[in-house]
Amino acid sequence: MSIKIHEYDAVIVGAGLAGLAAAKELTEAGKKTAVITKLHPLRSHSGAAQGGINAALGKDDSTELHEFDTVKGSDYLADQDCVELMCTKAPETIRWAERMGAVFSRDEEGDIAIRPFGGQSKPRACYAKDRTGLTLLQTIYEQADRAGIEVFDEWYCSDLIYEDGKVSGVVAYDIRTSEPAIFNAKVTMFATGGHGRAYRFNSNAHANTGDSLSIVARHGLPLEDMEFVQFHPSGLGGSGVLISEAARGEGGRLFNSEGERFMTKYAPNAMELASRDVVSRAIMEEVRQGRGVGKDGQSVNIDLTHLDPQIILTRLPELRELAIAFQGQDMLKEPIHISATAHYSMGGIPTNINCQVEKNANKELVEGFYAAGECSCVSVHGANRLGANSVLEAMLFGRHAGENMVKALDEGIELRPAKESDADTTVAEMNTLLTSNGKERVAKLREELQIGMTADAGVFRTKESLERQLKLIDELLVRFKDIRIDDKSKTFNTDLQEATELGHMLEFSKFIVDGALNREESRGGHYREDFPTRDDEKYMKHTYAYMDKDYKMSQEWGEVTQGKFEPMERKY
Ligand SMILES: Cc1cc2nc3c(=O)[nH]c(=O)nc-3n(C[C@H](O)[C@H](O)[C@H](O)COP(=O)(O)OP(=O)(O)OC[C@H]3O[C@@H](n4cnc5c(N)ncnc54)[C@H](O)[C@@H]3O)c2cc1C
Repeated sequence: MSIKIHEYDAVIVGAGLAGLAAAKELTEAGKKTAVITKLHPLRSHSGAAQGGINAALGKDDSTELHEFDTVKGSDYLADQDCVELMCTKAPETIRWAERMGAVFSRDEEGDIAIRPFGGQSKPRACYAKDRTGLTLLQTIYEQADRAGIEVFDEWYCSDLIYEDGKVSGVVAYDIRTSEPAIFNAKVTMFATGGHGRAYRFNSNAHANTGDSLSIVARHGLPLEDMEFVQFHPSGLGGSGVLISEAARGEGGRLFNSEGERFMTKYAPNAMELASRDVVSRAIMEEVRQGRGVGKDGQSVNIDLTHLDPQIILTRLPELRELAIAFQGQDMLKEPIHISATAHYSMGGIPTNINCQVEKNANKELVEGFYAAGECSCVSVHGANRLGANSVLEAMLFGRHAGENMVKALDEGIELRPAKESDADTTVAEMNTLLTSNGKERVAKLREELQIGMTADAGVFRTKESLERQLKLIDELLVRFKDIRIDDKSKTFNTDLQEATELGHMLEFSKFIVDGALNREESRGGHYREDFPTRDDEKYMKHTYAYMDKDYKMSQEWGEVTQGKFEPMERKY
């Protein structure tokens, strides 16, 4: 079979906020750019962001305070130069979005409205009702489309073309026909979003299977800080579907089955608006101690009935709809059941401040390769991300990556011609899956992985639970080789895609668990019951982890870029 080779200046995988922001910059600068995405751009998970996007716009707020809150929230693991860049450019990013046509909610004076979010000392989350992500994604998609971006939607990226320290594009296949093609490029960017689907109880879209992480790792490149997964305090009990932090930002209160407003015990000052890791642990602790609510006692109540109904109807309309649709609970009339849900990945593909991918803990760079948004680890969130900092990161660093790619192209980075054989791995992987005739089922293996991740590598972790999960993943990796998929056709073969995605999930999950096992401390979203305190002496370090062909893990420690904020104990 001959493989088509497309040639571009730039190829971007992912059409969420990060990918589209980069594509817009490149296309407007006259660079020939392809965007490859397994979903239609407007179905990217960015569109699900409800609560807001941070910028220090308030009269008594400042960039420095935004920086401080972010670094404190990160449990001092964020790189402070990157945090400074993000917070400094945040107000300008809001204006950039507004000038493109994003309609933000307004306050009485007609200024962009801001609301409080967890872990922030001032209200600074700008929002468009509770549809912030959708508003931003639609706006940026329209503008990128106007600039003339070329989108290959329903194309699945399956491999990276990487040789001698340089990336020269990707291999992808058309989901409609399963026909692979090579996208040969001078610069390549991954903007593939999060990987929450590895957990049973999660807030993420079905597509958030973290494909690019293991694609990168299969080439011997590292992943950074994968042990840090954020558990959001308010997933709807049972489904994990998100009820945005805006519900607490607007005044929602948490109660256990005894009617106790339990945050008084865990964060007496910030209460419900402590950072997410703190609130999630508080909820799970109440549940563990038998003070949960709901059929299985696995949830707690969030109560908004004391609020003016107009606040709910005008600022949280989607959240109300979600709780009615999924649980039959109307927040205007009664408390609703929520529980901690896997939500966000702080770790990912390591990059420097200019979004260039690093190939080791010494921060040497891969030539021609960039990453931004949730799949990357630049690292502005360190061990825990603050609400409304991620949409900001995706837009701001996506655009920044685009600008840096334009610069690299202007400086004359060359195209290394691809060869048909660059698609060999993809073709072989597809053939193996399409002819698979074993006895294991993809859905079953995925479920076992997810249940294990939630139970043993979730909000609370111990050496025993992590070792158990590591063992399970190793077994699942073996059983994965014995799967069977029934659909052998090449037309819209979702069986094939789901099997491929499961392969990725099994591999990157091993990074999460192995990293969590090696980090014998508690920091941000990573909580070890057997090591409940933070240990700066040993672990004020980024994890750079590698996986070999036999799925064996190895690890290096990378320096954290310090700055003006000295590490302190984190209290709310
Ligand atoms: C329910 C929910 C609510 C949230 N609310 C907020 C909020 O209020 N504020 C905030 O700051 N953050 C919020 N977040 C987090 C934030 O939305 C995301 O981190 C951010 O939008 C990620 O943007 P992205 O561009 O990196 O990725 P995404 O928007 O997830 O896009 C990923 C893209 O990659 C493509 N892709 C992935 N794999 C492949 C592949 N193998 N081949 C081809 N294409 C591929 C997908 O098709 C998609 O286009 C929320 C997240 C969730 C889940």
